[in-house]
Amino acid sequence: MSFASLGLSAPLLKVVAEQGYDTPSPIQSQAIPAVLEGRDVMAAAQTGTGKTAGFTLPILHRLSQGERPQGGSQIPVRALILTPTRELAAQVGESVATYGKHLSLKSAVVFGGVKINPQIATLRQGVDILVATPGRLLDLYQQKMVRFDKLEVLVLDEADRMLDMGFIHDIRKILAVLPKQRQNLLFSATFSNEIRNLAKGMVNDPVELSVTPRNAAAATVTQWVHPVDKSRKPALLSHLIQTHQWQQVLVFTRTKHGANRLTKYLEGQGIEAAAIHGNKSQNARTQALASFKSGGIRALIATDIAARGLDIDQLPQVVNFELPNVAEDYVHRIGRTGRAGASGQAVSLVSLDEKKELAGIERLISQRLNSQTVEGFEPTPGGGPKVDENDDRQPRGGQRRGDGGNGQRRSNGGGRTSNAGGRGNTGGRGNGGGRGSSSGQRGDANGNRDGANRNSEAPAQRRQRSGGGQRRSGGGTPNGNV
Ligand code: AMP
Repeated sequence: MSFASLGLSAPLLKVVAEQGYDTPSPIQSQAIPAVLEGRDVMAAAQTGTGKTAGFTLPILHRLSQGERPQGGSQIPVRALILTPTRELAAQVGESVATYGKHLSLKSAVVFGGVKINPQIATLRQGVDILVATPGRLLDLYQQKMVRFDKLEVLVLDEADRMLDMGFIHDIRKILAVLPKQRQNLLFSATFSNEIRNLAKGMVNDPVELSVTPRNAAAATVTQWVHPVDKSRKPALLSHLIQTHQWQQVLVFTRTKHGANRLTKYLEGQGIEAAAIHGNKSQNARTQALASFKSGGIRALIATDIAARGLDIDQLPQVVNFELPNVAEDYVHRIGRTGRAGASGQAVSLVSLDEKKELAGIERLISQRLNSQTVEGFEPTPGGGPKVDENDDRQPRGGQRRGDGGNGQRRSNGGGRTSNAGGRGNTGGRGNGGGRGSSSGQRGDANGNRDGANRNSEAPAQRRQRSGGGQRRSGGGTPNGNV
């Protein structure tokens, strides 16, 4: 199958060729014709499947063929793409700008945490396609800076993650102000009952697509487990990086403290590493990601939320330094590798106290993970010495792990690593560059999303707080001709 056979217009075929995409990915070959027909779509597709182009290309096609509505002083938005995190918003915004570069449509990205005024200025100039995180979008709507009365298409990207992050109320508020007659596209890596409920009230006679079996991990990812004592995990990771000469490895920790600590440890071992989590400024995150992509650092240590939306082509290696509390996060994590058909490896370092999580993951993916002991790192029967986890985690949904009956607090194993900048993110997106992408982040509602504090307060509270003096500077040119 070719992109031309899907019915996309010449400017879009041109950009697809420029991107070097030969054939549509499975989600693209299914979603593009459905969206072009104007159908609602509900798609089970995780990051890495090519889903962004799957919805962006046909939306661009439809909008460019239609009439731009006249809006007087404020031109109404025609397509709205909601994403859970600022990183994903920025990334989707970039894709919209890239794929639409031969068209005369305009796009923008808005998310919280930085100045709202540049975003308002952009919206005033008229935006056809708006990519947004829910909190800032509601702020803008409440300030009457954005109009939806002519909205044609709504996309909920990574809907499962939005619900995980407590955005359900914001989403419902947004849905309530959109015109009833519109096209709805819902993308989610996993389809829980909660998502299905949300979808019920949103989509109309949808085309249901699934590019991986429900809740399954990508087939192109080789997965295995190394059993190891908790206290020896840092040494094992360093050993694996060195012996396998991994040059680009994304490592997941559960907590921000854990990410900081591990980064220091690896650096001490001569492995270039950087942490990326909600306590890091957007600048620090952008820089860390850029050096990771360019090969300046070998190991990027991330918490689940921070890693969400990272677009790194052909990432070969993902390591679960700790298993996630929520089994679905495992699928998200390993979705960072084996993208768009490339092969990848996902290794989990599993200590005795993580047995329960491992079982939950294996149940979810209907697969037993291959277990390999590494010589010199064999687990000791009691689970080895206890480790002070500097435990700042707050597991979701009452899934606190049993901890092997050992009690939660441990005494030794390293001091507390302070974390950079407390709750807030200082600094903003430093530059004004970026086609079609833009402006800033939400400090708390979309910013400080991390395993440690997500869902710890209601979105409304977060919004209020971020409005209460926690604005951050920064913000690029929030507009782009797409
Ligand atoms: P996504 O799942 O939207 O995050 O896309 C994952 C990656 O796949 C992105 O880096 C895209 O540039 C890339 N990609 C999207 N579509 C294709 C395609 N048809 N062929 C090759 N790569 C693609």
